[in-house]
Amino acid sequence: MNNTFQTYQIFFSVEGRRYLAIGKLGVFDFPAGDYVYTGSARKNLGKRIARHLAPEKTCKWHIDYLLTSTWAHVTAVYLWREKECRVNQQTAGAIVAPRFGASDCRAGCGSHLKYLGTSFSDYRDATRRPRNTTSAKPANSTANTGPLPNRT
Ligand SMILES: [Zn+2]
Repeated sequence: MNNTFQTYQIFFSVEGRRYLAIGKLGVFDFPAGDYVYTGSARKNLGKRIARHLAPEKTCKWHIDYLLTSTWAHVTAVYLWREKECRVNQQTAGAIVAPRFGASDCRAGCGSHLKYLGTSFSDYRDATRRPRNTTSAKPANSTANTGPLPNRT
């Protein structure tokens, strides 16, 4: 049994709809809302994550193109002992950039970047409002059903 962390998930939000070239992969339409990228490193997991979070760097991985932009904001980092494809496949979300981060993927993930819609923002905002009892939208919803919550 593997007891060491090998997989990470970087949650980030995109302020408004953006188009961005992701290296040689192509140009993609990134709707406003929340995203999660799932990756792994067998060695130096901490260094890898620190690199991903560094504001300036040479873009090496697909995720670097997003995270070096000024309009993408990292909100959380999760660590997992399970393999990245398993974690990725258990994460509900829509694919907006096929093959993103999945160059080495042999598990048929389609993409290691998943769009969570705006539900994660709603959830986070709801947790700040103790009396809010509205249920979160499904995580795999891609529809923008309303304006983004105001963020201060
Ligand atoms: Zn995969």
